[in-house]
Amino acid sequence: MRQWGNTIAGENRPAAGGEWIELENPATGEIHGRVPDSGSEDLQAAVGAAQKAFPSWSRLDPEHRAEHLEALAAAVEEHLEELALLESVDNGKPLGLARSVDIPRAARNLRFFASAIRQFASESHRGAWGQLNVTLRKPVGIAGCISPWNLPLYLFSWKIAPALAAGNCVIGKPSEVTPATAARLGELAIDCGFPAGVLNILHGRGDRIGAELCAHPEIPLISFTGGTLTGAAIARATAGQFKKLSLELGGKNPTLVFADADPQAALDGALRAGFSNQGQICLCGSRLLVEQSIYEDFRASLIERIHKLKVGDPLDEQTDQGALVSAAHKEKVLSYIRLAREEGGRLLCGGEELSLPGKLARGHFIRPALIEGLGPDSRCNREEIFGPVLTLQSFRDTDEALRLANASRYGLAASVWTRDLQRAHRLAEELQAGIVWINCWMQRDLRTPFGGMKDSGLGREGGLEALRFFTEPKNVCLQLENGM
Ligand code: NDP
Repeated sequence: MRQWGNTIAGENRPAAGGEWIELENPATGEIHGRVPDSGSEDLQAAVGAAQKAFPSWSRLDPEHRAEHLEALAAAVEEHLEELALLESVDNGKPLGLARSVDIPRAARNLRFFASAIRQFASESHRGAWGQLNVTLRKPVGIAGCISPWNLPLYLFSWKIAPALAAGNCVIGKPSEVTPATAARLGELAIDCGFPAGVLNILHGRGDRIGAELCAHPEIPLISFTGGTLTGAAIARATAGQFKKLSLELGGKNPTLVFADADPQAALDGALRAGFSNQGQICLCGSRLLVEQSIYEDFRASLIERIHKLKVGDPLDEQTDQGALVSAAHKEKVLSYIRLAREEGGRLLCGGEELSLPGKLARGHFIRPALIEGLGPDSRCNREEIFGPVLTLQSFRDTDEALRLANASRYGLAASVWTRDLQRAHRLAEELQAGIVWINCWMQRDLRTPFGGMKDSGLGREGGLEALRFFTEPKNVCLQLENGM
C-alpha cells in the first residue's frame, strides 16, 4: 500500500497526530493507499512555512515564478502515465479519460498561468487635472485552495496555478476522497525545486481541516470548488473576517436540442454532456430538453446509444463508464433513481446497480439512466444528482425551452443545439447560466471567465479573472507638476 505525506515547508510529512485516511479504489473496493488525517498542528506548520516563504516568493519577478510553474508542468507531463493511473485508481474514472483529459489539463493549467502572469498588466488612468492613477496589484498573502473529488488534479491545479503565479503562497486541501494525485504533485514540486513553503498541501477531512483552514485568521483568501451547501457553510464561516472568496459550486445544467439542430452532433453532445465521467462533472448537462417535433426519434436514438455505453473496469481501454467515486455516492445516486419513480418518472433505460465479476465485484457501478415524465418541479429535476442520470423533457417552442431551462436554482452552464442564429443569440442572452455553449459542450478556452450564477457560485475563475482575484488592487494617485 502506498503512503503519501503532507507537503509542508518543502518536505513530505505525516500528520503530527499520526492519523491516516485510507484510500479506496472505487472499482475494486481495495485500499490502495493512505494520506495524513491532518489537524490544527499541521495547519499551523503550513501557515508558518507559507508566512516564511511569502516575502521572497511575492517579490520574485513574474518571469521566475513562471519558470517554477513550467518546471512543475514538465514534471506532470513526464509522469503522465503514472498520474493517469493513480487518478483512475483513486477516483474510478476511465484511465483513457484521465490520460487524455485530467492530467494533460493539469499540466496545461500550470503552463497557462505561467504564461498569463508574464502578460498580466495593471491599469493606469490619466485624470483631467494632471493626476496619474496607477493600479498596483499585489499578491494577497496565503491562499487557501479547496478542491473536490470529481476532477481531482485538474481542479486542484486550476486553483493553485493562478494563486502561485500571482505571488501568493498556497495551502491546498484536496478532497479526502481522491487526494492521491495532489499528494504526488506535492512530491513532484519538491523534486523540481519549488521553494520551500510556497506550495503546501494538507490532507484531511473537510469538516475538520477544511473548516479550520477557512477560519484561520492568517489566511485572507479562500478559493473553493465543491457542493453548494459546503460553499454556503464557508461563506458563513468566513463572513466575519471579510475574506476574499471564490465559490465554484453545483450545477443542474440544461441541454436544449431544437428540431433544426444537426441531429448527429446534438446526439453526441447530449450523450457526452450527460454521462462524461459518470455524470460527475459540475458542467454535465443532466436535464435534456428536446423539441416536441423530434422528441420521439431523438429519444429512441439516445436510448440506443446509452445501451452501447460500456460500463466496466476503468483500466480497460474499451470502458466508457467507470465506477462511481464511493459506496456512499452510489447510494445517493440510486436513491434519486428510486425517488424518480416515486415522483412519477419512467425509467427508459439503465439505473440499476451493476455487479461485475472478479476483482470488480466490490466496485460501485451503475448503468447510465434515462428518465422521462418528470416536470420541472420534481426534485430529480431540481436537485443535483451528480451521477449517470439524465432526465428528458420536451418543449414546444423557444419560450417554453427557456422557461424549463431557467427553472432551476443553479446557473452554471447550458448547451444549446440549433442552426438558427437568431435563436442562438436570444438564448445566449436569456439563459441564466455563467457559461452558454452553442452547438458544443465543455469546450474550454482557459482565457474565458469560468463560473456560475445563482446557487452555482460567486465570482469567476479563468484568465485575468483569476489573476485579479488572487491579487489585491491598490490605486496610487500621483499629482503631476503643473497639471502635466
Ligand atoms: P464537497 O463540497 O463535499 O467538498 C469539496 C471540498 O470541500 C472537499 O475538499 C471537502 O473535503 C471540502 N470540505 C467539506 N466540508 C468543508 C468545510 N466545512 N469547510 C471547508 N472545506 C470543506 O463537494 P464534493 O467533493 O462532493 O464535490 C462535488 C460537488 O462539487 C458537486 O456539487 C459539484 O457540482 C461541485 N463542483 C463544482 C464545480 C464548479 O466549477 N462549479 C466543479 C466541480 C465540482 P472532504 O472531501 O475531505 O470532505
